[in-house]
Formats: sequence, structure tokens, C-alpha cells
Amino acid sequence: MCEPVTEIYPKDQTIELRNKIIGKSCSLFYKSEPLKIVRGEGQYMFDEKGTKYLDCINNVATVGHCHPKVVQAGSKQMGIISTNSRFLHDEMLVCAQNLLKHIPGDSLSVCYFVNSGSEANDLALRLARAHTKQKDIITLDHAYHGHLLSTMEISPYKFNQSSNIDVKKPDYIHVASCPDVYRGKYRDVDYRGCDMAEVYANDVKDIVEKVKKEGRGVAGYIAESLQSCGGQIIYPKGYLQKVYDIVRKAGGVCISDEVQVGFGRAGTHYWSFETQDVVPDILTVAKPMGNGHPVAAVIVTREIAESFAQTGVMYFNTYGGNPVSCAIANAVMNVIEDEKLQENCLVVGDYLKLKTGELMIDFDLIGDVRGLGLFVGIELVKDRKLRTPATEEATFVVDRMKNVHKILVSSDGPDENVIKLKPPMVFNKENADQFLEGFRECLMQLKEIKSVESVTTQMPCSLTITASKIIESREHTVKSI
Ligand code: PMP
Repeated sequence: MCEPVTEIYPKDQTIELRNKIIGKSCSLFYKSEPLKIVRGEGQYMFDEKGTKYLDCINNVATVGHCHPKVVQAGSKQMGIISTNSRFLHDEMLVCAQNLLKHIPGDSLSVCYFVNSGSEANDLALRLARAHTKQKDIITLDHAYHGHLLSTMEISPYKFNQSSNIDVKKPDYIHVASCPDVYRGKYRDVDYRGCDMAEVYANDVKDIVEKVKKEGRGVAGYIAESLQSCGGQIIYPKGYLQKVYDIVRKAGGVCISDEVQVGFGRAGTHYWSFETQDVVPDILTVAKPMGNGHPVAAVIVTREIAESFAQTGVMYFNTYGGNPVSCAIANAVMNVIEDEKLQENCLVVGDYLKLKTGELMIDFDLIGDVRGLGLFVGIELVKDRKLRTPATEEATFVVDRMKNVHKILVSSDGPDENVIKLKPPMVFNKENADQFLEGFRECLMQLKEIKSVESVTTQMPCSLTITASKIIESREHTVKSI
């Protein structure tokens, strides 16, 4: 058990100070009623009043908040040495071996350590460009790959924001459709009997040909193996195989961003790219690696590492691969194995999807339930046939889950209508039942609101509180990238 937590400031002062001295654009969950989380334990977080929340948002707390073995590994190493990674240290090598041992085949064999997912993807771009001597990159629509200038350029999720004068899509970046067969550019209902993997891969083929016609080549293709920001998208079987083939034949390299979806969360495999039967040329890993501590890595083929070395530009990163970060990452990977958390993701994730799927009988609002392991998306639609996004309803669910049921979930996708679950990997069946109970109650509420609305629309002037008043503003929506 943790020590009782004493706050430095009372919550209203924390908010006041934050508004005054922290940049306004630094985003907050539940913006109009932010949570002050003062401690965490396992799959739970606690606010300043001691209220306990079931955490379904934090894929960063992979093995559970404050896992004792991770805390111990970090504190022990802090008490010994934490220094620049330009000194020899064995924790870095143990960490590299721990990463490599989970990767199928032996093509990915050289590691670079960095501090965040953004840094990892930035380095991945440099490696791809150094190896191919080309600049053009193919990315997927709705993708998010980081907050640096270079990674914003490959993140339609960011550069498509209408007011964004910070970053625009450069000509050397190409956007392929996200292979979302439910509500993407090409939908399963319109392409019955077709190989959807091929339909979507053809988009990449067209881009490769266009770049070639313009007299250039493709440096690389970057994608998550399950798209998170797009709304927990599972690609059609064989999609990445086809795309990797197209890109490699064109001389490009394939980058897999496993910043969110790696380390066993997918349940059946340690890495999500394995669910598509491929091995990338460059793999980027971050968030779950440190259980909340900033540590990340890029893993590449020996040939790519060699090309990068031949540029003659030394790579140094003060904190990347420091002994404390590596000791923490090693503890995280050990706990995933020792506590069989990948297997837990498979069992609990399947149960969660099955039971959520059963709710579709009673609630038309659920259009699709999808996911792998403990990476689950529930797509809410106003109309199952038209698949019209139920954005306000998703916002309502997110807020009510927090306020009434003390369960933290987020919404995402281009229309913010997908309820997203990516809890710590220690999430268990009882937690799934708790979520299901709360979620069902929210859906019941929405059903009632809808029936009140359909009556009130018959009245000349609404005398009752309408659903639109009950449904809170969009700013409440939680986005968790
Ligand atoms: N790639 C993906 C898929 C991400 O979700 C994120 C962050 N949410 C990043 C890269 C960037 O990682 P970081 O915030 O650690 O820089």
C-alpha cells in the first residue's frame, strides 16, 4: 500500500496555477472538469479526495500503476548511477537483448535508445531516408506519430486540424486511406466479395506509382499495426503483407509504429505487426516500455544501421538508454512475462469484446465492436445502416462513465464516436464486468433521452429538458493519444 498523499496545493489552486503558468495548448483530460490524480495502484487511480477510478485509458501503465518491481528497479538504479548514455553500461545491453528476444526472425537486430515515441519516429524517418536516399514517406489517414515538426508532417491527425498553421503536409508526404472497412473510404458493405486488403493496398500502389512518375522514389511507409487515433482500427487480413511488398519492391522501407500497441497488449502476439504476418524494417517502441517512465527505442536491420553510420553523423542522445530508464524497461518486460500479462490481455480482451458485442442486441447505438487483446474500440452510430457517427452520444458516455461510475474511458476516431479501451494489462474480468455495467447504464440513459426527444419534437415548444441540454459540450470529450 502507498503512503497517504498530501497535496502541495488544493485543487482549485492547482487549476488556477496551471492556467496561469502552463501553456494553454497543453491538453488535459476532461478539460472543463479536470481530474487531479494523486496516486495510482494497479488498474486504479485515485484523486485528491481518495475517489477510486477504474483506469481504462492508460496504456502507459502497462503492468499497472506503481508496480512494486518496476518502482524498485528504478529507485535502486537511481541510487547507484544515472548518467549520460555515452558511458558503457550493461542495463542498456540487457534492455536491447530483452527487446530483440521478442522479435520474430533475426532481421531486426540493432537498437537505438531514445526518450519518447516522437523521438523514436523522428529517428525512424532519418534512418529510412539515410538508407534509401529518398525523402518521400507514405503515411495513413488519421495517423498520429508524434509532436515534433518531423512527426507532425506524417500525422494527418494533426496537420488536418483546420487552424493548423504550424505544420502543413509537405509535398513529399503522401496519405493513403486508413484500412477501416467499417467506416473508411472503402466499406465492406460496398465491396462484398472483394479482398479488402487489396482494395486498400491499391491506394499505396497508386502513391508509389505517382511518386515514381514524378521522378522520385519512396523512402518509407509508416503505420501502426492497429490504428489507435483512427478509432481502434483492425486492418483486413493480409493488408500489411501486400503493402510491405509494394513498398519494398519500390525500394522503400517499412516502419511499424508500436508506440501504443506493442508489448503484448494485442494478446495473441507480443508485437501487433505479428498479427498481420509481417516483420518491419524499422520498429519504434515507447509508451508501455517504461510503465510511465520516459523510455523508447528504435530497432532496425543491420543494413539500415550501416547506412545510417555511413552518413558520418554521430547519433547521441543524452538520456536515451540511460541506466535508470533501461533498468525500468527491463523490469517492465520481466513483469509482462512473469505475470503472463499478454495471456491476460487475450483472455480478458476476448471476454470484454464478447460481452460488449452482446449489448448490440439491446442497443442499436453500438455499430461495431472490434479490437485485439486489451485494445478495444466500440463504435457508436446513430444509424446502423448509414453508420452515421454518434459523436455527442460518445461524449455523453465518456463523461457519465467518469462522473457516475468512476470509470475512465476515452473517445477517438475522426468523428470522436469510438469509445476506446486500452487499460493497464492487469485489467481483469471483474474490471470488465464493472465497465460493462456502467456502460449499459449509460446506454439505457441515452435510450431514455432519445425517447424523451422523440416526444418533445412533437410539441410546439419544448417544455421538458431535451437531450441536447443533458448532453454536455464537446469540450468534455477525452482524447487520449
Ligand atoms: N506514435 C503513436 C502511435 C502515438 O500514439 C504517440 C503518442 N500518443 C506517439 C507516436 C508519440 O509518442 P510520445 O508522446 O511519447 O512522443
